Amino acid sequence: MDGRVCEFPGCAAVGEFRAPKSRAELRQYRWFCLAHVREYNAKWDFYKGMSESEIEAQIRADQTWRRPTWRLGPQADRRASDPFESLLDPYDILADADVRRQKDRRFAAQPNNLTPAEQQALSILDLKWPQTLDSVKLRYKELAKRHHPDANGGNKEAEERLKLINRAYTTLRQSPHFAT
Ligand SMILES: [Zn+2]
Repeated sequence: MDGRVCEFPGCAAVGEFRAPKSRAELRQYRWFCLAHVREYNAKWDFYKGMSESEIEAQIRADQTWRRPTWRLGPQADRRASDPFESLLDPYDILADADVRRQKDRRFAAQPNNLTPAEQQALSILDLKWPQTLDSVKLRYKELAKRHHPDANGGNKEAEERLKLINRAYTTLRQSPHFAT
């Protein structure tokens, strides 16, 4: 890689990372700096089916090249499943911090990672995860009816319980964790 310069137009960084030119030419490489090989790899699917010269033209014409607009989430999935990805990045050196953070965030959003507030809300409604939003709604209606002050002779305790139940329901209703 001695003396190689990143092939991205206008970039003068050392071209020390390689990426196949196209699916048909997996053993011929372009050389980029780390930032540009990441972008090139991220757009790999987009280049699919294009000829070498079309890719070349696209790279030069692409206004979004420097500021990728694709979302990292789905990209992270593709990294894991695309067999070409392991070829491009066998040691996962390109899975940068952003992608990893994105993965972590998705992991944190799994149902078994409910927030403490959501867990508390579940226990107030006396429910166990997983639940559908519909079943939570049903449970809420049932409890709200049972603990309504009107049904308890204006009982202050019932009123407090109802407040808790309302708050718990609001917390869960806003949770992104329900699979619809
Ligand atoms: Zn570069």
